[in-house]
Amino acid sequence: MTGLASVAANTHVQTLEVLEVIAETADAVSVVLAVPDSLVHKFRYLPGQFLTVRVPGPDGEMSSVARCYSLSSSPHLDDQLVITVKRVPGGYASNWICDHLRAGDHLTVLSPSGKFVPRSLHQDLLLIGAGSGATPLMSIVKSTLIGGSGAIYFLYANRSSDDVIFAAELDEINTEFPDRLTVHHHLDDRDGVMTPEQLAPRLRSYGRCDVYLCGPDGFMTMVRGALAEAGVPSAHIHTEIFQSLAGDPFADIVIPPITESPDDATVRVALGGTTHTLSWPRETPLLDVLLSKGLDAPYSCREGACSACACTVRSGDVRMRRNDTLVDADLAAGLTLACQAVPVSDDVEIEFDQ
Ligand SMILES: Cc1cc2nc3c(=O)[nH]c(=O)nc-3n(C[C@H](O)[C@H](O)[C@H](O)COP(=O)(O)OP(=O)(O)OC[C@H]3O[C@@H](n4cnc5c(N)ncnc54)[C@H](O)[C@@H]3O)c2cc1C
Repeated sequence: MTGLASVAANTHVQTLEVLEVIAETADAVSVVLAVPDSLVHKFRYLPGQFLTVRVPGPDGEMSSVARCYSLSSSPHLDDQLVITVKRVPGGYASNWICDHLRAGDHLTVLSPSGKFVPRSLHQDLLLIGAGSGATPLMSIVKSTLIGGSGAIYFLYANRSSDDVIFAAELDEINTEFPDRLTVHHHLDDRDGVMTPEQLAPRLRSYGRCDVYLCGPDGFMTMVRGALAEAGVPSAHIHTEIFQSLAGDPFADIVIPPITESPDDATVRVALGGTTHTLSWPRETPLLDVLLSKGLDAPYSCREGACSACACTVRSGDVRMRRNDTLVDADLAAGLTLACQAVPVSDDVEIEFDQ
């Protein structure tokens, strides 16, 4: 059977009021967003998750640019949602947010998503971040200390003390939880640029902990090397890669015609409390199949970069055409990206969290 092209609109788009824009450092702001009672259920989130934000394009409101920003707030502590954005030199959206956004403005966003989330708040964690990479880690710190029983070692690297986002908040939390939180600030201008040789001995005693790592590319590569040298298994290492989206999840998308054939796989998908049994053509990404059937699957980038459409393979095999975000630990937990997954086995069972 040959299908027709279909058009899908993202059903997870909402508009929130900006309550406050807080200057954290000379080049980073936190944006506090109000969630009205009617939308509270759409904005429940887990520590480490992000919002996808719509920023007006260079031509004004008619075009848009989409970027992901992690929540620095904690669902266990903070009443409002807070994202923290650091200027990227020459970057479009980060500078637009820092320069233009004011209290009283409205931001169009997608509901929270992402898989950079601790498996449990009752385990000890090693958190390693640099610059704005501390944003999701702040949410994890607060959530673990308040909502769980785990202890945290947080290694936070910056060029200088002026660049440390959340310095005062971290000091405050440290005073409250001196036995469960250890923060080590590494400052390049004081300590020299961090090297794997310097770092590895410090990490050896954390071999059994889950590690959450977020920072610029070069920093993450260096830390991964140090973690390997310190004997931390890669299955314990979770990373969040900060990259800009090329696509626009706020615009309607056209799904190419889907041609069903007897050779299709069968997929059972648990989504939003209902299980759907569908025919899955071998070369069609799962997300396209779901959207073409009018199902409310979450997504953002549709290019394998952000994990908004991550779901769990409960049985059967799939392959991802592209994956720039899930790491070994995620794959070991059975995660896949609906926007990139095509079937390998004849029968597949998939579950979405939401
Ligand atoms: C899951 C996730 C969570 C994130 N969380 C955060 C967060 O909490 N805080 C945060 O600050 N960021 C976060 N990011 C990163 C954020 O989404 C943006 O990537 C970042 O703000 C840069 O966007 P920009 O529009 O300012 O820069 P862009 O305009 O995308 O530019 C990025 C870089 O590319 C260069 N560039 C742009 N266009 C070109 C070109 N044509 N040729 C060559 N170079 C070019 C720019 O000079 C700049 O150096 C996150 C990303 C992801 C995927």
